[in-house]
Amino acid sequence: VDQPGSAARLGDETWEEVAQRPGRILAIALGSLEQHGPQLPLDTDSRIAIYLVDRMAAQRSDVVVGPLIPLGASGEHQGFPGTLSVGTQALAGLLGELVRSARTSFRGMVVVSGHGGNHDALSLASKQAELEGDDLLCFSPHLVDGDAHAGRTETSMLLALDPDRVRIERAAPGALAPLAEIIGELRRAGVGAVSENGVLGDPTGASAQEGRALLEEIFEQLVLAVAERFDA
Ligand SMILES: [Zn+2]
Repeated sequence: VDQPGSAARLGDETWEEVAQRPGRILAIALGSLEQHGPQLPLDTDSRIAIYLVDRMAAQRSDVVVGPLIPLGASGEHQGFPGTLSVGTQALAGLLGELVRSARTSFRGMVVVSGHGGNHDALSLASKQAELEGDDLLCFSPHLVDGDAHAGRTETSMLLALDPDRVRIERAAPGALAPLAEIIGELRRAGVGAVSENGVLGDPTGASAQEGRALLEEIFEQLVLAVAERFDA
């Protein structure tokens, strides 16, 4: 994929430099550290979120990239080794305090989440931001034909972003039933109860070419969402 150009990074700046540039938007990538089948690294969601945030900040001079939040709400994956989750309450608390802290220096904040399980925490943080008058945009990519977890969609995106991290020879189908059919069991007993290898979908047809197209699609979604919120 095209590497993002030069994105402004908050950690590189001094407090005086931040003060000289009022009215910017703080962009935060929110990922997870959870099993992604036998073929993908635990930080797959973070890698995708970082890509989106960096590329947007390279394109918009009014966006500055804050630190990655590398942990999310991944309780449903806890049965697999390596998964580290802080859960919905802790994540919502962290996001809520971050929004309060960021209001001193920025006109608003966009959180780009690479992990669907972070949804409830993002909703809670959004409600708080609305109540307190903060401009928070929570963005989660949506792909109409995407599979649920560590399947063709995410494997293709990682092949485009970071092929050396994909153990493609380990890729194998997981649970193939529509998510709606297995979501009850998944919530009750975790991903391991419905898929032995942790995959929901079939990664065997994944390709970097497909991944590039998917990344392009979700990047365009992000660009539009940010423009709608902040350029109106
Ligand atoms: Zn994922």
